[in-house]
Amino acid sequence: MNIHEYQAKEILRNFGVAVPDGHVCYNSNSARDWAKRLGEGPWVVKAQIHAGGRGKGGGVRLAKTPDEVKQIAREMLGMTLVTPQTGPGGKVVKRVMVEKGCDIANELYLSMLVDRATSKVTLMASAEGGVDIEEVAATTPEKLFFEPIEPVAGLAAFQARKIAFKLGLKGAQVKQAVTMFQGLYKAFVQSDCSLLEINPLVVTGAGDLLCLDAKFNFDDNALFRHRNIRDLRDYDEEDPHEIEASQYDLSYIALDGNIGCLVNGAGLAMATMDIIKHFGGDPANFLDVGGGATIERVTEAFKIILSDANVKGILVNIFGGIMKCDIIATGIIEAAKQIGVKVPLVVRLEGTNVEKGKQMLAESGLNIIAADGMSDAARKIVKAVAA
Ligand code: GDP
Ligand code: MG
Repeated sequence: MNIHEYQAKEILRNFGVAVPDGHVCYNSNSARDWAKRLGEGPWVVKAQIHAGGRGKGGGVRLAKTPDEVKQIAREMLGMTLVTPQTGPGGKVVKRVMVEKGCDIANELYLSMLVDRATSKVTLMASAEGGVDIEEVAATTPEKLFFEPIEPVAGLAAFQARKIAFKLGLKGAQVKQAVTMFQGLYKAFVQSDCSLLEINPLVVTGAGDLLCLDAKFNFDDNALFRHRNIRDLRDYDEEDPHEIEASQYDLSYIALDGNIGCLVNGAGLAMATMDIIKHFGGDPANFLDVGGGATIERVTEAFKIILSDANVKGILVNIFGGIMKCDIIATGIIEAAKQIGVKVPLVVRLEGTNVEKGKQMLAESGLNIIAADGMSDAARKIVKAVAA
C-alpha cells in the first residue's frame, strides 16, 4: 500500500524526524489560509498523487504570497498531472500540500529497503539527490552507499555516522544525521515498511538537515496490525478494477497489454504471462482466482476482465486441482450472460472435472476457441487479437 507525501511526513514527524511544516488542502481558499497560518513565506504548493517525478511535471511550485499560493492551488487542483511515473494518462490532482518553502544548499538521497539477499533492512544513500536514483545506479553506481542493518541491534550510531561522512556532512550535521537516520529506521520497522525513500534529503542554507520529500511502501501482509495506516488508503489513487478485485479476494494487477488472463495459481499466472510474451503478445492483467474459488468469485473475475476496454481477447488457462473445471465453466457462462463476450475467447482446461467443464462450455453457445496445452493456447490468443 502507498500513501501521500503529506501523510508520510506526518508519520515521520511522530518519529521525531525533521520535515518542513505543511498541511494538506482540498480547495484553494484553505490553501491560502494555511499559508498564513504556517508563517512567513515563501511557500511550496505540492500536488499530492501516488507518483513521483512531480517536480518535472509542474506538480511542485514555489509561491511568494498567500494569494499566489491560492492561485497555484486553484490551477493544480483538478489538473491531470503527467509525470514520468504516472504513465501517459496522468493522474487527477485532488489534494495539494502547502508547505513552508526552504532554501536548499544541497540535495541528497536516502532510502531504506528490505534486502532479500541479506534478509536485512539496508540503508542506501547518495550525495546525488533530487534526481532519478535509477539513473545514478545505472551510470555511476559507485556514488551509491549501502549499509546493512542488524535486526537485533538496529541502526547503530557509528553506521549512521559512516553514511553521514560519505555524504559529505560536517560538524553538527553529523549529529543531526544520526538522530534522523535512527528515527527513519524506527519509523520503517515499527510501521512494517517495505520501502522508505527520502528524495531529496536536503541541507538547508542554514546548514540543517530536512526531509523534503517522503515515500512509504508498506508490507500489505502486516497492514492488519496498523489500523492507523490502513485508514490512510486513498481509493482515488488506485485502479478501480484492482479495488473491485481485492473485495473478492482476487489477486489482480492491471497491466498495459490487450490479452486478458484468467488463471488459477500465481505460478501458472506468471507462466501464462511469460508464454503470451514469448509468442509476441501482451497481457492486460495478472489474475489469480485462487485455489478454492467459488462460482461467484470466478464470475466476478471474468466480469472484471470483460469490463477492461483495453482487452481485445481473453485467455482462460486453468489447471484444475482443488479448483474444479466445471466451476470455472459456470463462472465464465454466468459472466458472459451478464455482460456478453465480444472478444475472442481461448480456453485451455485441464485437471479435475475437465470433461464436464468442456462439455458445459461447448453447450453454452459461447464462441470459444478450445486449446490443448499452454503453447497452443498462447499461440491461438495472440493470433486472435492480432486479427
Ligand atoms: P517529486 O518530483 O515528486 O519527487 O517531488 P519532490 O518533493 O522531490 O520535489 C521535487 C523538487 O522540487 C525537489 O528536488 C526540489 O528541488 C524542489 N523543491 C521541493 N520543495 C522545495 C522547497 O521548499 N524549496 C525549493 N527551493 N525547492 C523545493
Ligand atoms: Mg522526490
